[in-house]
Amino acid sequence: MKNAVIYARYSSDAQKETSIDDQIRDCNKFAADNNYRIIHIYRDDCVSGKTDNRDQFQQMLSDSAKELFETVIVWKLDRFARNRNESALNKVKLKKNGVKVVSAMEHIPDGPEGIILESVLEGMAEYYIYDLMEKTTRGRIGVALQCKHTGGRPLLGYKVNPDKTYSIDEYNAETIRQIFHMYATGSSFSEIIDEMNRQGRKTASGRSFGKNSIHELLRNERFIGIFTYNKIPSENGKRNSHASKPKDKVIRIPDGIPAIVSMDEWNTVQQKMQKNKHTQARYKAKIEYLLSGKIFCGECGGAMVGQSSGSHEKYSYYECSTKKRLRTCSKSNVKKETIEAAVINYTIDYILSEEFRESLVDLILQQDDERQKSARLITGLKEKIGQNQTAKDNIIKAIEAGIFTSTTKEKLEALEAESDLLNSQLLEAETMQSPTYTKEAISVWLSKIATKARKSESGNKFLLYSFVSAVYVYDDGTVKILYNLGNKEQKIALSDLNGAGDRT
Ligand SMILES: [Zn+2]
Repeated sequence: MKNAVIYARYSSDAQKETSIDDQIRDCNKFAADNNYRIIHIYRDDCVSGKTDNRDQFQQMLSDSAKELFETVIVWKLDRFARNRNESALNKVKLKKNGVKVVSAMEHIPDGPEGIILESVLEGMAEYYIYDLMEKTTRGRIGVALQCKHTGGRPLLGYKVNPDKTYSIDEYNAETIRQIFHMYATGSSFSEIIDEMNRQGRKTASGRSFGKNSIHELLRNERFIGIFTYNKIPSENGKRNSHASKPKDKVIRIPDGIPAIVSMDEWNTVQQKMQKNKHTQARYKAKIEYLLSGKIFCGECGGAMVGQSSGSHEKYSYYECSTKKRLRTCSKSNVKKETIEAAVINYTIDYILSEEFRESLVDLILQQDDERQKSARLITGLKEKIGQNQTAKDNIIKAIEAGIFTSTTKEKLEALEAESDLLNSQLLEAETMQSPTYTKEAISVWLSKIATKARKSESGNKFLLYSFVSAVYVYDDGTVKILYNLGNKEQKIALSDLNGAGDRT
């Protein structure tokens, strides 16, 4: 069971609005059906879309950092934000804390354009936040260089002194020593977890230990006194210590903080982990069919399903389901490696093309009328401020020319008051406006997606999920790819692309 919270909002703007209690009832039902444990309900009872005084929403965002829940359930996604851009920004903020948003009433983004838009806006918001964070991080690096605490919860076994330096928290340091010692002397993860539970020992977030938390502790160099600090946040937002970070992005200062674990014990543990990794890898041969659900037989239209005649990808292929079940289709099987590499490589080239970029920019601008509305509002306000200034200037000129009556004074005061109001409205409109995604920013983001797809399986998955809608494979060796954007059909010959896979 996963821990979840409910966020409900009553909007006074909507004419016929589902009451907040009805929303919560639907969310509770959804939670029960989907195995979520509700630990808290946040409700903003009467909120107009304009003022956006969503106290409970802000509370929920800041609570998400405490790692008490993994999911936020909303009745409909429009409860969560006023527009797609804001929704993307908030989702990314939650994602950084390992929390995702699900809707009790809607399950799939609306249509292929919905999928691509959601992916792009979330990706861009991530890029935008990342950029912001990099700026604020510069200040923190200065603090980090003195081996001081830079914020957040300190690592298990340490406490933060008033001057922000670290010292050892004896009780929890003992937890760490026991975990290292047990592993070094041959205990399994399960045995360590059982022993920790027996003694009632907890992780830094106050939870029971799991395999992942033990694994992460055993790899953490801070326990031998090396102060480490990541200059940039990890890419998917989660504190993922499995991904190796580029060396120049990490500050490492040996003897920067007090050590909890001895060097000997540390070395034994690392060697053992290395050895176990190799043994585990041999069993871990689950094959993932990346095109599953998207690949179809061009001859009969049936879905093609992943098959394997061994535990290695080399012997895996996609087979027409009609052929498999009814034997009425004679489509030959397609090798998994070949077709996946072809589709991925073709898609990378396609999303990097000028044509695709143009249509993506169009889509974002076109769909995003909220942003256009606020842009129009800002332009309108600036115009009014200009007019107000001119009117004031004219009165002042009149005063200078000696024309001064009680009406001129009143007029000037009224204009001053109007000017104050307009300026505060402008400030509000500007701060509410979501980030501008320029064509350049979109290009940079697309290049990042392409690089990621060339390098990693998760990059491949993201690429296929976001951009590819269907792949048809024909017996003459051609492949038709349908994309989520622009009803574009690409017909390619598989034979031309056989070599393409080698490029990666
Ligand atoms: Zn078929």
